[in-house]
Amino acid sequence: MHDEQDRGLDDRRLPEDLKRCIAFHGHLCPGLVYGYLVARHAIEALGFSRSHDEEVVVISENDTCAVDALQVMLGTTVGKGNLMIKDYGKNAFTVFNRSDKRAFRFLRTRGYRYDGAHQQEYERLEQAYASGHATAAQRRRQKWLKALDLLEKPFDKVFETRSVEWFEPPYAPLAPSKACDRCGEMTMATRMVQAEDGQTLCIPCACNAGLSGP
Ligand SMILES: [Zn+2]
Ligand SMILES: [Zn+2]
Repeated sequence: MHDEQDRGLDDRRLPEDLKRCIAFHGHLCPGLVYGYLVARHAIEALGFSRSHDEEVVVISENDTCAVDALQVMLGTTVGKGNLMIKDYGKNAFTVFNRSDKRAFRFLRTRGYRYDGAHQQEYERLEQAYASGHATAAQRRRQKWLKALDLLEKPFDKVFETRSVEWFEPPYAPLAPSKACDRCGEMTMATRMVQAEDGQTLCIPCACNAGLSGP
């Protein structure tokens, strides 16, 4: 663990909704804060609160820690189908409000630069990290400092906001299941592959038969 006393001080400073994200995700990290910042800003920009239906939809272009903050803050979840992950490895998120047909894409076009109160310490930690010799405690401390610094930055210094020409994001697919002709396991029909011999196969069976996915 990093310095307990410092951590205690910082913990008290954290906003309550961020604490809920941390409770869900398991730790505070820069990735979680990226998602938290986007969610908080989207709530303001699109005028909604936590979703219990599919009014809010998020397309995340990464599958990092950030996604967990979006799930907690916006109620967009993989299970409900209103969180779609297109893992392009980009720190970019499109948030839709179906009720008034508006959407914004939040993305980063600049690298991160620390400008918090622990400049020298942060630089030392970065050097240790770059050398490949950072201890686990040093890595945690660096993430912690970066997370807190991100929280202090104005949103538009971290993310760029672009309005998106409205398109209706897809609803969660509801498809009947049928048994795979090879393994017999019930499978969503839309996720099955038609083989040349007329058999309908699940993805693993199709891969074993040398076919590609749907
Ligand atoms: Zn994390
Ligand atoms: Zn199968």
